Amino acid sequence: MTLDESTSESLFDRAKQVIPAGVNSPVRAFGSVGGTPPFIASASGALLTDADGHEYVDLVGSWGPMILGHANPRVVEAVREAAGRGLSFGAPQTGEVSIVEELVRRVRPLQKVRLVNSGTEATMSALRVARAATGRDVVVKFAGCYHGHVDALLAEAGSGVATFAMPGSAGVTEGTARDTIVLPYGDRDAVTSLFAERGGEIAAIITEAAPANMGVVTPPEHFNAFLAETAHAAGALLITDEVLTGFRASAEGYYGIDGPTAGGAGSTPAGGAGTADGAGSAPAGGSDWAPDLMTFGKVIGGGLPVGAFGGRADLMDLLAPLGPVYQAGTLSGNPLATAAGLATFAGLDDAAYAQLARTSSTLQSLVADALSTAGVPHVIQTAGTLFSVFFREQPVTTYDDAKDQDTAAFGRFFHALLEGGVYLPPSAFEAWFVSTAHDEQIVDRIAQVLPAAARAAAQG
Ligand code: PMP
Repeated sequence: MTLDESTSESLFDRAKQVIPAGVNSPVRAFGSVGGTPPFIASASGALLTDADGHEYVDLVGSWGPMILGHANPRVVEAVREAAGRGLSFGAPQTGEVSIVEELVRRVRPLQKVRLVNSGTEATMSALRVARAATGRDVVVKFAGCYHGHVDALLAEAGSGVATFAMPGSAGVTEGTARDTIVLPYGDRDAVTSLFAERGGEIAAIITEAAPANMGVVTPPEHFNAFLAETAHAAGALLITDEVLTGFRASAEGYYGIDGPTAGGAGSTPAGGAGTADGAGSAPAGGSDWAPDLMTFGKVIGGGLPVGAFGGRADLMDLLAPLGPVYQAGTLSGNPLATAAGLATFAGLDDAAYAQLARTSSTLQSLVADALSTAGVPHVIQTAGTLFSVFFREQPVTTYDDAKDQDTAAFGRFFHALLEGGVYLPPSAFEAWFVSTAHDEQIVDRIAQVLPAAARAAAQG
């Protein structure tokens, strides 16, 4: 092997010898689009530089966290300062109080929150609390929703599970799979009849507040409110997963768009208030509907490993040492991670969200124009400032729809963009992520490459 040790190809080769598929998370392997993933040497603002010295406009943003762009000077400085004071204490520290106060201030249903180290840990822990609170085992999820690699939640999950067309995962026990019921996303009738039949066994419904792991699916109007109402009527809980949408879809995540007092589409829940049935009062500020528990990650860590779960105080107080639900973490509430998260929040003001919304919509128009001109069937779907592009003609409302797209056309589009210096998520099942560092100049660089990429997509 005479490959230059510093190229992505040689690094990928080395990696594959010692890391399964050469990657530490499946979608990074470029399995569905083919080719060698660029190994990233550095990143700044909206740009990535790989080991080969190529520069890319980044539309992945580490899958969401880099909402202020890479190596944002304020975030980096905050982490540097925190690092100087010690990397981890395994004891309480100021930053974790401040960031949880920030979460509680920004998101109405949050009364109490615990910090963990990933979105997966957040959903896993929220499920445990829901099962303990209800004394029930069954959890309901929706096909195409991804909630991390929690055993109970891998069935018909989106993200990498969708990219590689896997039904779920080997290594999950039959008992666990039996306790998970998967329904088609957005299907009110399926939810209603399941609850009519088995409502008394169900601990919780878990849903992405807006699905973004099968591509972006805008929730049907009042759907989340309907889920809250249906769950509560049966003594079950609703967990909304905002790991991806949190502090990205809007300043209050997707709840800021379809929460009760928001001006968005879901402002008046269908069928009346979905308040908790004998399970504590509705959380502060949510006079109509609210999830009982919510999960977060990505943005709240500003690029360092953080997750969070929280919601009603009576539920969160079931956690040890107050209550019987055990949950813990050596590095939870890590001072570097909370410093990065707090510095990220400091940059997320109204102007930042206005800019993200503008950039997102400009990019959508550019993509739509390029694909239309080249005659490539496509649908662009949004959830607040989030969007994704499906390579098919009809809107996507379910996982089956999402799977029914021209992934080969996406692959050609992806590679033409990569060649032209634009780094898209390497899968047709993922949202595209912009940051406040995506200014006009950056958007212009994308605009230059789109027409040729669209023509490549058209050449089947
Ligand atoms: N929930 C959702 C909605 C997600 O998008 C993700 C990650 N993409 C997770 C949970 C899992 O988070 P993590 O990868 O940090 O474990």
